[in-house]
Amino acid sequence: MKKIVTRFPPSPSGYLHVGGARTALFNWLYARRMKGTFVLRIEDTDVRRSTTASVDAIFEALEWLGIDWDEGPFYQSKRFDIYKEYIQKLLDSGHAYYCTCSPEQLEVMRKTAMATDGKVKYDGTCREKGLGKTENAVVRFKAPLTGTTVLHDVIKKNIVFQNSELDDFIIQRSDGTPTYNLAVVVDDITMGINTVIRGDDHVSNTPKQILLYKALGSPVPDFGHVPMVLGKDRSRLSKRHGAMSVTAYRDMGYLPDAVLNYLVRLGWSFGDQEFFTKAELIEKFNLENIGRSAGVFDKDKLLALNADHIKATPPDQLAKHLIPFLKERGVNAEEGEFLESVIKTLNKRSKTLLEMAEGAIFYYVDDFSYEEKAAKLFFKPGVLDMLKLLTEQLEQTEDFSEKNLETVFESFIETTGLKFGKIAQPLRSALTGKTVSPGIFEVLEVLGKDRTISRLNKAVQFIMSK
Ligand code: GLU
Repeated sequence: MKKIVTRFPPSPSGYLHVGGARTALFNWLYARRMKGTFVLRIEDTDVRRSTTASVDAIFEALEWLGIDWDEGPFYQSKRFDIYKEYIQKLLDSGHAYYCTCSPEQLEVMRKTAMATDGKVKYDGTCREKGLGKTENAVVRFKAPLTGTTVLHDVIKKNIVFQNSELDDFIIQRSDGTPTYNLAVVVDDITMGINTVIRGDDHVSNTPKQILLYKALGSPVPDFGHVPMVLGKDRSRLSKRHGAMSVTAYRDMGYLPDAVLNYLVRLGWSFGDQEFFTKAELIEKFNLENIGRSAGVFDKDKLLALNADHIKATPPDQLAKHLIPFLKERGVNAEEGEFLESVIKTLNKRSKTLLEMAEGAIFYYVDDFSYEEKAAKLFFKPGVLDMLKLLTEQLEQTEDFSEKNLETVFESFIETTGLKFGKIAQPLRSALTGKTVSPGIFEVLEVLGKDRTISRLNKAVQFIMSK
């Protein structure tokens, strides 16, 4: 069996967006699944639009997603000599020719075409002239005039193109630079790429590329053109449908594996399974199950999936992702038992890491202020006696495990005759400053006896001073 070689060739003119990340992911997963090679190539021949900031942003996003590459990054801007060599091969073998038609001539051609069949294409003026290289000459590919070119697409099945509709397209501009179709084919040949999975906005380029492979005597790779990602209103995905850059999701507290899971489901399915770990995706991903209809981006679904991944990720791993969010909030948390016990109280109730970090602050910061609502609702003078009594009770309690605390509270309820809510709510506000928090016994256990007592004393002082 042949070794699968796939690639991701972004044009660095912006951040890595959802659609691009999905293309990268499909190629990466397929290479991993098939124990093949995944190549990263930066298509930066358009110097006006390419920026190093964008290259860095793409690397950063791929690294965050855990999409690693085996070869590259290769930069097209450093490969001009190779393109020249291949253009020369095409000239030498009669598959390409120099063209000196002026912009004015081309404009006349365009107008004539528009007035007749509406199909704008080069009329072949220089095709048989045998012109040599001159200043301002471009190189055109000598496309076949008859017959068909068939794209055997693994997703869309066969697409037949009439060669008569194809153009003698330019492969080298007058400044000597190669065009996209030429550079891509030369790269894919020289990098040994045999599987190309990309957005279906490239379908119209593919017959030209197939003709180039054939003219260069190279095997045509397997192509799979994936339908675009659309917004919920079925228009092309844009900012108003949700954040466009992958790293924006990182900053909003999404887990990379949740984003990966969501991206893959935007075009690939495995029965009706929605949740996949990364390892499972590598085991199950295939090209046959890539869908033929457009994926619809739904940010609520992504959020729900993120919550599922947060629940499923072991606390020690979650800790690594959570720490930066805590640091941003001035909390110097470290990996270890304490943070893991904090996480265990929050992982079932947080949809994002950001939410989790917000919810974790009270575990670290003793000197917090009470939410207005908490103070108003639960710190009434009537609770003072109960809080004092409870403090005494807890001072006598050695075992601060959730289980033991439950029994302590049962007997406290019995002796005071109070309802659980009447005790738990003021206690929660005293310990967390809020009206909502993880389960009260969990909070008590994580805070431990000393901090619990001191927070209770602080609340008593606060109520007395009101
Ligand atoms: N650089 C192209 C793009 O970002 C990809 C070309 C290809 O996949 O062949 O759309």
